[in-house]
Amino acid sequence: MERPKAVIFDLDDTLAESFRPPKAEVVAKVKSLLEYLPVAIMTGAGFKRMEEQFLGSFLDSAHLDRFYLFPNSSAQCLVHRDTDWTTLYNLALTIEERERIKRTIRETLDRYSELRDIPHWGERLFDREAQVAYTPTGSEASLEVKRTWDPDGSKRAILWETLSRALPDCEVLLGGLTTIDITRKGINKSYGVKWFAEHLDIAPAQMYYVGDAFYEGGNDRIVIPTGVVTRAVSGPEETPAVLDELLAACAA
Ligand SMILES: [Mg+2]
Repeated sequence: MERPKAVIFDLDDTLAESFRPPKAEVVAKVKSLLEYLPVAIMTGAGFKRMEEQFLGSFLDSAHLDRFYLFPNSSAQCLVHRDTDWTTLYNLALTIEERERIKRTIRETLDRYSELRDIPHWGERLFDREAQVAYTPTGSEASLEVKRTWDPDGSKRAILWETLSRALPDCEVLLGGLTTIDITRKGINKSYGVKWFAEHLDIAPAQMYYVGDAFYEGGNDRIVIPTGVVTRAVSGPEETPAVLDELLAACAA
């Protein structure tokens, strides 16, 4: 592997199981990588969840200043400056836009029998200003449920196709095993990759992107046209080995 100039990780089903924090081993390896180069987490997840679940583990890093967070599908970027996380940009949706998206999701769920009565645990609809997210099995569903609720992907395909058609001015993206993320058109991980490259004054091709969702409609696929070097993992159990490869390339 050639040593990249920056590394970007997806969170759900890449660094960690959906809605769960990364394991201590993964956090430790990402912190080691930060000693060599800028590292970003680019995710459909909101900042609050990351802060509650694991960002505290990074605060003692000597290179915290080059750790970038792109929550809500890159609708925002945060870095840690002085004593707190600081927003570098925020492209939030308006209240009216969010209400229309939520209404469209509810109408879609009513319309298709396949989408009704899906067993769920915890909250399903998330309004995080920059992004509206819907997860049919709920945020507390077990990994087993998340892996089996839609084995052929047909339910998510109905949701994705219907919402994409009904919301032409929005990005509708699949992330993790269950979630659909909706942001303003043009605001997606591709935007984040390009912004990050410009900010670091490097080319996207000099960056390395690790994610699990490069399939059709997947929220990592959209970064491919930027020219960033991509690496697909099948899930978080595969990511420590990729981190080891990156660390070896940096140490060489
Ligand atoms: Mg993912």
